Amino acid sequence: MEKDCSYSMDDFSRIKKIDAHLHYYTSNDAFAQFAKTQQVHLVSINVDFMEDEWLPLSKQKEIASQLKEKHSDSYSFIDAIPFKPAITPSVIEDACQQIDVEKRNGAIGVKIWKNIGMKITYRDQLVMIDNPVFTPLLEHLETTKLPLLGHFGEPRNCWLPLSEMTVESDKKYYSSHPEFHMFLHKEMPSHKEQIEACNHMLTKHPKLNFIGAHLGSSEYSITEIARRLDQYPNMNMDLAERVCHLQHQAIENHQEVYDFMIKYQDRLIYGSDMVFTDSKSEEEQFNELERRWKSQWQFFTQTNMQNTWEVYGTFKGLGLPKEVIDKIYFRNAIKAYPSLSFLEQ
Ligand SMILES: [Zn+2]
Repeated sequence: MEKDCSYSMDDFSRIKKIDAHLHYYTSNDAFAQFAKTQQVHLVSINVDFMEDEWLPLSKQKEIASQLKEKHSDSYSFIDAIPFKPAITPSVIEDACQQIDVEKRNGAIGVKIWKNIGMKITYRDQLVMIDNPVFTPLLEHLETTKLPLLGHFGEPRNCWLPLSEMTVESDKKYYSSHPEFHMFLHKEMPSHKEQIEACNHMLTKHPKLNFIGAHLGSSEYSITEIARRLDQYPNMNMDLAERVCHLQHQAIENHQEVYDFMIKYQDRLIYGSDMVFTDSKSEEEQFNELERRWKSQWQFFTQTNMQNTWEVYGTFKGLGLPKEVIDKIYFRNAIKAYPSLSFLEQ
């Protein structure tokens, strides 16, 4: 029975999908071309990192407009709301105008990164997203109906010592990014405070079309994710870089994770969080892309025992029904980012 209602591994390249969270930071269009052969529409996210490690936002924008022009059938982008290291009301005013420009240039949504709540200041204090200074910006997004993808906070592991982190991928990331490892920065807001700031913003802006990146930073508990999705009907969440946390929970609570995916099948959006860059070889990136797409597809569609390097232990695939996969991999992204509706034709 399972065979008929679930997709096979080979079906991956046969059905239409959207990878709604990745970072296309190279003008090499080989990945966009490949995506087309796999029936994947890529949504690349520009981020205002304000850090030298990453490609500057101006360059990201240049790449986005090139790829959009050349590959509009397999590529869309979400643009960054530009801030400054120190926010002022005039920075917010400029950001509102910039959002309109980005929308006209074809952005399907806009993104705010975790530096709000972790780095950026207002009146010499760290500023969280529920600070009233952001109200005009959030109201502007409500009026223009442009979706907001928000990455607020970090996985809860970020507040734990490396030895207590639940997945290997978090351990790897925070050991190389101590500046973001909040366990080492006790003066910074707690995980709970980060989530509360986001919740508070959602309470104040019920008309905002909000997508919580990375399972809204509530990845550690499907119960907590469910609670927030119940409480905030205008919130959807993407799975980018957090599928491993569902896999981790499936080791002990397989049925609960399955039931969660069924219950919230209209609210979750697939994203791989791949980063395409000039600083790695094309081959290495293709291998990684293939690995993520296939291993995550396997987890959602098959019911065999599986493992990945990110997760400690073996877990059973969820074998979700086809109609649920169609939503998570395609339809929900279109609902959250209505500009993608041309893909339905
Ligand atoms: Zn990302």
